[in-house]
Amino acid sequence: MRTPQRLLLVLLAALATLTASAGNLDIYWIDVEGGGATLLVSPSGESLLVDTGNPTPDDRDAKRIFAATQKAGLKKIDYLLITHFHGDHVGGAPALAKLIPIQHFLDHGDSIEANDPRSGPAWQAYKTLAAGKRTTLHPGDKLPFKDKAMNAVVIVSNAQTIKTPIDSTKTANPFCQNAATHPPDTTENQRSAGFLLSYGKFKFLDLGDLTWDVETSLACPLNQIGTVTLFQATHHGFVNDFSGAPAFVQAIRPQLVIVNNGPTKGWQNSAWDTVQKIQGLEDTWQIHRAMGPNHDHNVKDDLIANLEPTDACQGHYLKASIEPNGKITITNSRNGVSKTYTTH
Ligand SMILES: [Zn+2]
Ligand SMILES: [Zn+2]
Repeated sequence: MRTPQRLLLVLLAALATLTASAGNLDIYWIDVEGGGATLLVSPSGESLLVDTGNPTPDDRDAKRIFAATQKAGLKKIDYLLITHFHGDHVGGAPALAKLIPIQHFLDHGDSIEANDPRSGPAWQAYKTLAAGKRTTLHPGDKLPFKDKAMNAVVIVSNAQTIKTPIDSTKTANPFCQNAATHPPDTTENQRSAGFLLSYGKFKFLDLGDLTWDVETSLACPLNQIGTVTLFQATHHGFVNDFSGAPAFVQAIRPQLVIVNNGPTKGWQNSAWDTVQKIQGLEDTWQIHRAMGPNHDHNVKDDLIANLEPTDACQGHYLKASIEPNGKITITNSRNGVSKTYTTH
């Protein structure tokens, strides 16, 4: 074959590879040891990072997030959404900002724990870092993706919920009958900003550490959200039943659940029981194997990113790649195991 023809074929092959991957929405769940750090990259390469993990002396979580941005080929983070001002969500932000530029910051408004000795310092550091680049999210707002294929609506923020339901069904949610109620939570968890992102038929729900009381108001007596495809289990797998109201979890009926738990944080037996009762659930994937008392339920090893206790943890991530036709491929970075699913 003559050289120009060969060159043309090489170019065409390269173009085919580019267009094949250009259509996907990619979501990474980065292991930040029981904190939150979820990176979304739109089909056109826009990036939204949801939370930044913990602050540690060695910047462990910021470095892990940075590594994921490099895997995704990012030069900057377009939007950083901080769900709420607890250290396991906002703590890594200052260190991360030294590794990669962060263009814009989205949050629920000022911390209600500004004077709390545990969470106050992380909030103050964030306030300094994000000064002049913050936007306060309100329920019903759209997240500012330029990519028109992406539609992300704020569902909750600062303990307020959407006024116009995503799901206009007027049938009472049957799971609300005799549902256990919890008194209003008084921490930053309750203030979590959360969103529902649609890409074609695929729907991803991330509500941070939203608490049982607000989850219930989203689901009872009418389910405001409808059903979703992939649910990031609230609060690291319903930590100590502060989150994970069954009337909410079972009404949204996710096909897939991702649990960003730590070895002994979240995903206790009650959380497992709630998730197993979801009708039509296809799989659950865990960031960590759950260990210790009241943590003796786990999915099979292939669907768990990290098997060790924290000390020896390598910080493997889970990745979901969603095609425009709704085909979902979830990959475990520890062993390369992938499974594919079809969005219903
Ligand atoms: Zn948390
Ligand atoms: Zn929290």
